[in-house]
Amino acid sequence: MPRKSPRSRRKPGTPSRLPAANRPRATPGKRAARSERARRAAGAARPAHAPKGARGVARPARKARPPARGRRVAPPDPVRVAAMLHMLEDLYPDATTALHHANPLQLLIATILSAQCTDERVNQVTPALFGRFPDAAEFAAAPPSEIEALIRSTGFFRSKARAIKECCADIAARHGGAVPRTMEELTALRGVGRKTANVVLANAFGIPGVVVDTHVLRLALRLGLTRETDPVKVEFALMPLVPRDRWAAFSHWLILHGRRVCVARKPRCSICPLAPHCPRVGVTASN
Ligand code: SF4
Repeated sequence: MPRKSPRSRRKPGTPSRLPAANRPRATPGKRAARSERARRAAGAARPAHAPKGARGVARPARKARPPARGRRVAPPDPVRVAAMLHMLEDLYPDATTALHHANPLQLLIATILSAQCTDERVNQVTPALFGRFPDAAEFAAAPPSEIEALIRSTGFFRSKARAIKECCADIAARHGGAVPRTMEELTALRGVGRKTANVVLANAFGIPGVVVDTHVLRLALRLGLTRETDPVKVEFALMPLVPRDRWAAFSHWLILHGRRVCVARKPRCSICPLAPHCPRVGVTASN
């Protein structure tokens, strides 16, 4: 004989097992009826011609939602930001790109290679690479396997070789072999994003730009300069906080500070000169 389900075994008239507080009511309870009477007495009755759900008096405005817990950040106060900029400048007066290059094309290629790789490692492979392929046309005509063999130790070598070859083909075909000087033209090249374009503009052409790499992204959040986590939004959030002529230097300062002091896993807050101005957003462990 098939087993009956618990619901079908329940006797008629047996109360539901739902807890009383959660049980849906078929008719309004005493409290609901009382509040309805009070509402009508206050003149809030729905007019006969009004659609169902409409009310006689306007609802009070909803209270603003309080800020999310654990995400409280001091607003980027200009005085605090200025103090941090002074400190960073004193700490890293000669900050510049660590990627070795002799022209804009070499910097562009070195920046592509630096993704998920240290600058030291990139500097180890670029002399042979730039010696073998001196210009964009040579890179564009090279067999991918030859580029891959020369950049293998930088990691992701297949996709990097493809990006180098494609962007060099675009530079050779559309710009006569010269690296373009505008953000629009640079980001139109295959394999080139805003970060790479800003590196080239700032370091090869002296055109100000905020470079947002993994260190800048992390420090901007920890220092309470922005709540954004998308690199492009962070770039646009940092721009108004820093004088335009310091954009490139500011990126270098944060990159160096992120490598030496405010490291990803365990920031060295106890020795950090920025500590008096840092809300340490998201920092869970430090030494
Ligand atoms: S105080 Fe700590 S979290 Fe803030 S910048 Fe310095 S190392 Fe980073």
